[in-house]
Amino acid sequence: MLVNVAEMQLISQNPSPKKGENMKFNSKLIHAGYDSDANSEGSITVPIYKTTAYQFNNTEHAANLFGLKEFGNIYSRLGNPTVGALEARLTDLEEGAMCVALSSGTSAVMYSLINIMSQGDNFVTANQLYGGTYTMFDNILPEYGINAKKVDITDFKAVEDAIDEKTRAIYCETITNPGLVVADVTTLSEIAHSKGIPLIVDATFTTSAIQKSFDFGADIIVYSLTKWMSGHGRVIAGAVIEKGGFDWGNGNFPLYDKPDTSYGGMRWGHDLGDLSNVAYSLRLRTVPLRNLGANMSPETAFEVMSGLETLGLRMDRHCENALKAAEYLSNHELVEWIRFPGLKDDPAYDLSEKYLKGTGGTMVVFGIKGGKDAGQKFIDNLKMFRHVANVGDTRSLAIHPATTTHSQLDDEQLVAAGSPPELVRLSIGIEDIEDIIEDLSQALESTK
Ligand SMILES: *Cc1c(COP(=O)(O)O)cnc(C)c1O
Repeated sequence: MLVNVAEMQLISQNPSPKKGENMKFNSKLIHAGYDSDANSEGSITVPIYKTTAYQFNNTEHAANLFGLKEFGNIYSRLGNPTVGALEARLTDLEEGAMCVALSSGTSAVMYSLINIMSQGDNFVTANQLYGGTYTMFDNILPEYGINAKKVDITDFKAVEDAIDEKTRAIYCETITNPGLVVADVTTLSEIAHSKGIPLIVDATFTTSAIQKSFDFGADIIVYSLTKWMSGHGRVIAGAVIEKGGFDWGNGNFPLYDKPDTSYGGMRWGHDLGDLSNVAYSLRLRTVPLRNLGANMSPETAFEVMSGLETLGLRMDRHCENALKAAEYLSNHELVEWIRFPGLKDDPAYDLSEKYLKGTGGTMVVFGIKGGKDAGQKFIDNLKMFRHVANVGDTRSLAIHPATTTHSQLDDEQLVAAGSPPELVRLSIGIEDIEDIIEDLSQALESTK
């Protein structure tokens, strides 16, 4: 097995020198995972290594790389120095053990699950999920024999009761959309750990700036970096980050017990020695990523790192603006109801105090008086807000699910789906708050 461990080191090494390990959060956003040196011509931003493969020095070098006697880059699906710098930065930011960057949040969700389960297995998850994730769980994974057991994740007894001997994880989103349920990560992780399974959280809506999910007990963090993490609405990107230390050889993960015939008979939960701390990440890179291929491009990694530099600043402004917008709307005569976890009478207020660093996040959801027609009018009359299906951009964004994403449903079905006809969803940007409120105000007036 020693040979395989050597290869693990090879593919898991971060080719860029590390910097930033003892820095605080906002400094890490800028410095972690990369330092300029002679190889990078002194470039202070991470060079874009636009290459598929890496030159072998001579036949002996090639033989050593293939014979796993020496470490080095081989092929960019497995690893690329630009992407490696982003992976090191995200690992540092979360104070985790290892990260694998992927082509999208969607592939990150998919790989995070198929990395520990196969046909006949299941996981327990929330009944409110990002739309694409919902479809994956409802329609795609079951076709391959992996079942999502959907429960109300605020009902801890239901969560616990849903776990059986084939359950491999609890999976949830740190804040759901559009329901804005704030997950009680600590309690969910305690339930998971009592059953010897991990808690996987999709922390896209919180980002590491307002929730350090590992500190609350999560074992795996999944990101759509497309949203606030990169933050400028320019790229599709994802990542899976492992906290480290979970015992994948505890008998609950057949994929980590039996010899992996696709990888020299490796028993992922047992044969990694010192690297068993990151068995999950090593398997994710070596099995799903290497063979299914949703790797991130170096150009995307560069864009994500550019955006990340201002994550702290942006999230401060997003959250501050969202609170002011929510306060404004909560007092407006044309607003029927409002959900924003940062408002004192919001059902998620207590959880937001604990899990969102006292902010309410950046999303505001409200019911407009006049139902579906008013919702449509409101959206059509917005001037600065962009009408898009995205969230987490510098720009303020709005959508009316009843006439777009959920337009195939009738009013009754809309209510059942947690998205009643009058519901408007706002992703509050970082523009000047006066402009945000002015736009909301004139669009609301237009519905009269
Ligand atoms: C957008 C999103 C995803 C999917 O990410 P993509 O990068 O669009 O593939 C997954 N989860 C959440 C919570 C999201 O908002």
